[in-house]
Amino acid sequence: MNNKRIFLSAPHMGGEELDFVRDAFSSNYIAPVGPQIDAFEQEFAEMVGAKYAAAVTTGTAALHLLLRYVGVGAGDEVICSTFTFVASVSPIMYQGGIPVFVDSDTVSWNMDPALLAGELEKRAAEDRLPKAVVLVHLYGQPADIDPIKEACDKHNVALIEDAAEALGAEYKGKSPGTFGKAGFYSFNGNKIITTSGGGMIVSDDEELIKKVKFWATQARDNAAHYEHTEMGYNYRMSNVLAAIGRGQLRVLDERVAGKRKIFDYYREGLSDLPGVSFMPEPDFARSTRWLTCLTIDPDQAGIDRDIVIQKLEENNIEARPAWKPMHMQPLYQDCQVVGGQVAEDIFAYGLCLPSGTSMTEEDLARIIAVVRGCWG
Ligand SMILES: *Cc1c(COP(=O)(O)O)cnc(C)c1O
Repeated sequence: MNNKRIFLSAPHMGGEELDFVRDAFSSNYIAPVGPQIDAFEQEFAEMVGAKYAAAVTTGTAALHLLLRYVGVGAGDEVICSTFTFVASVSPIMYQGGIPVFVDSDTVSWNMDPALLAGELEKRAAEDRLPKAVVLVHLYGQPADIDPIKEACDKHNVALIEDAAEALGAEYKGKSPGTFGKAGFYSFNGNKIITTSGGGMIVSDDEELIKKVKFWATQARDNAAHYEHTEMGYNYRMSNVLAAIGRGQLRVLDERVAGKRKIFDYYREGLSDLPGVSFMPEPDFARSTRWLTCLTIDPDQAGIDRDIVIQKLEENNIEARPAWKPMHMQPLYQDCQVVGGQVAEDIFAYGLCLPSGTSMTEEDLARIIAVVRGCWG
């Protein structure tokens, strides 16, 4: 039997990337400035429906810049989805802030709007509103943004969208990441499109984009001798990587279609198994299905999620549990959490299956056979 390694979500180039990279080489812009960056930002902003964009080294750097922009400083509280990857939270710590976690709802697996609204009401009455809300759109699925934005607007709290995993998704027909004060995306190697590493900030606020670009290029004032009045970072994306990004943008729709097809294939092949439930897709969302996620209820299944991961690994197939909620992490165990049970259950039972769009039907059939085999 074919036993080649199947990864969770491997990079998948479209073909045009090298042409843009060649352009970057022939113009000798092997640098963190250049025409590929400008073009990538413009094309990206157009694609997601934002006015402005700023290309940076990583999604993590993007969030760091945005938190600084909205004024998060030492001792400031920031509300964040608990069900996420750690990079949604680390930049809060970089700024000396204190994360406060909010649980997921069961329809989207993302931040529960009612829990957030209730927490903001309570805090408003006590005059201790957070500096910002970081709303995560996980696994390619938008959160229920409207009520979340409404609650933030009501209390004048800045909303920042972590759409790192959600490029290509739609919330009521619009791209997640474009609803708040600003949003960001990631082009890390495992994301739906990749530049090997990279991130993008989008916003309709021109001043915001100018400022984050300034900070991202060492905060150099306008003087030939390198004058500095503010602290900056070296966070700008390289022109060569922007060239890869331009090629990848051109296949984004194809990738979304491919991811959704993989999800449907798994659903057809596995949903009859006792205890298996696939990640829902609410009416307001069109998910990219960046990763196919499902839960396995061990009482009904007679086996648990970890057995399936182990069997897949024995067959050289990479699968993972759902993200471990931030309030359960040793690093954040002393932080406040609002609710928590929904995310804890998803973590306890959740499984992410390989979802790379370069997989073949044979790969998928191999995975399905191994998973089905776990039920005996
Ligand atoms: C990948 C990711 C990030 C960070 O992006 P990098 O480009 O890897 O720094 C942030 N949030 C979420 C939810 C992610 O999946």
